[in-house]
Amino acid sequence: MPELPEVETTKRGVEPYLLNNRITKCWHSGLSLRVPFDSSKFNLIKNDLITGIERIAKYIVLNFKSKNRLVIHLGMTGNLRVSKFLKKVKHDHIVMNLENGNYLIYNDPRRFGLVSILANEEEFAMLDNNADDPFSAKMTPKLLLSKIKNKNTTIKAILLNNKIISGIGNIYACEVLFRSGISPFTLGKDIDLEKCKEILKNAKKILNSAIKSGGTTLKDYFNAEAKPGYFKIKLKVYDREGEECAACKSLIARSIQNNRSTFHCLNCQH
Ligand SMILES: [Zn+2]
Repeated sequence: MPELPEVETTKRGVEPYLLNNRITKCWHSGLSLRVPFDSSKFNLIKNDLITGIERIAKYIVLNFKSKNRLVIHLGMTGNLRVSKFLKKVKHDHIVMNLENGNYLIYNDPRRFGLVSILANEEEFAMLDNNADDPFSAKMTPKLLLSKIKNKNTTIKAILLNNKIISGIGNIYACEVLFRSGISPFTLGKDIDLEKCKEILKNAKKILNSAIKSGGTTLKDYFNAEAKPGYFKIKLKVYDREGEECAACKSLIARSIQNNRSTFHCLNCQH
């Protein structure tokens, strides 16, 4: 599943091909995505100048001169590519012709993603309800502490709650807690300011190194093949049940929390 680093890498990968360009035509497979694509709104962005591209949490947002927006979420299996030639492959659901002759293609085998066109100032709860991610200047240790200090839920569940902090998926939540030496079962109310500092520092470090390692695959966003340029960073605990902890040599444990797997070291994380 694409997490924040994959989304950021996708955004950086397609950005140079979209910026200052225009979308002239749009084709839709007709199959429904998580939110059905409303092609009747295509007129809102047709032939309009793309003035900026940003990532908000795990959404990619194209901003147009008219202030209308195109919002993309990759869901579980979505990917975005720019191609010089139109060679449709299985699961291509939306194809947009760019003014300079290239194509922007949204592919999604499981169709949990979304592509939505929004009029100027039109609200979009799924996007607007996201809290800031660890890179936001607003996401300070003090703010995080104030959001979790009364919580009786585990820090693992808190890190996956987009209304508290966005952009940390299951893989990175496990890694962040390992590097911070915090047990995933610690309750929010037992996390102090020092621990909030550790969590945010490590989240930025780990997400940044994943974005950096994705940099080498940026070329994959401009090709005729539907190959997502996703990548794997060296994970210390995730998916390593029974392997030795890199720090203490105890065996990595796997637990189930809120129906998700948590990987952790019983010796290093308290
Ligand atoms: Zn350990």
